[in-house]
Amino acid sequence: MENKKELRNWLDAFGLEHPMVIAGPCSAETEEQVLKIAHQLKNTDTTVFRAGIWKPRTRPGNFEGVGALGLKWMQRAKEETGLLLTTEVANPNHVELALKHDIDFLWIGARTTVSPFIIQEIAEALRGVDKPVLIKNPVNPDLSLWLGAVERFYKADVKNLGVIHRGFSTYEKTRYRNNPEWQIPIDLQNRFPDLPLFLDPSHIAGRRDIIFDLSQTALDLNYDGLMIETHHDPDNAWSDAAQQITPSTLDQYTVDLKIRKEIGDDAIYNNKINTLRTKIDVIDHQLIEILGKRMVVADGIGELKKEHNVAVLQTKRWNEILGKMILQGEEKSLSEEFILRVFKAIHQESINHQEKIINN
Ligand code: PEP
Ligand code: MN
Repeated sequence: MENKKELRNWLDAFGLEHPMVIAGPCSAETEEQVLKIAHQLKNTDTTVFRAGIWKPRTRPGNFEGVGALGLKWMQRAKEETGLLLTTEVANPNHVELALKHDIDFLWIGARTTVSPFIIQEIAEALRGVDKPVLIKNPVNPDLSLWLGAVERFYKADVKNLGVIHRGFSTYEKTRYRNNPEWQIPIDLQNRFPDLPLFLDPSHIAGRRDIIFDLSQTALDLNYDGLMIETHHDPDNAWSDAAQQITPSTLDQYTVDLKIRKEIGDDAIYNNKINTLRTKIDVIDHQLIEILGKRMVVADGIGELKKEHNVAVLQTKRWNEILGKMILQGEEKSLSEEFILRVFKAIHQESINHQEKIINN
């Protein structure tokens, strides 16, 4: 991407003083529902009204969207409220219909980003179109698939691009519906600093109680916008009920979220240091998670040793681990002395865990 600066022109042109807010229901359900939510969002910080009309459901049998009919309801919502519109497009036919109905932004869903064939088809259908296209991360934690999709649109002369971080699926259940893996969008931002980055906390969370905190983390990391699923009656939404919030909750969130502005040297410094510190916090959190996982495995080893009456300390194995870690550490410019200290501490903690198990 030669001329990366142009990637964010479209966003800067809005001249917003806060991150761009995209809000609206997971799915358009009825004309009445679409209009009601759009009117409730009208006097909030929302710039763009979202509603899915073709819903990619992982398994058949769930509500799959109202289809093209919903585009007319959205158009009416725009006429009545002045909000811009966005919907998910997943094939060239969707693109044609969305463009015909004056949809302002198009978004590409997570299940679409994984497929270079379909991305290429959609990119061709959008060739030269100057509407913003927001590309959600692929469902699997793969940065190059995400970047590949961005590059395919860019090569098709779709220059008003942005990306939406909506989390990554995992086999094991975690506290999130989709694991944030903050490192992936951070890496993407480092490679393309001018590519506007949005957070979709709704699909990361899968539940409404952690949407605020996720949004704050995104703002601390200098994200450019938020896409939040919003419904007038969240509990009775036809899809993703547990994760939707009401327009008035969203309104309150936009008041309570701390947005850092770049004014004056000190503010610039503070802004940068806070961004870096948040990155450190994210990584520290991951370190604890991973150490916790390591101890769970160590406990399993303890159980096994107990069953077979084997000694906890296995010096040969321990020296092998240390040797390997020292070599790997060197590749990351970590000194031998540091690796020794860290791994001795980890090893000691594992031994303590195992001793407790064996003596129980
Ligand atoms: C959505 O935004 O409603 C949606 C289906 O998103 P995703 O592609 O992130 O699952
Ligand atoms: Mn949804």
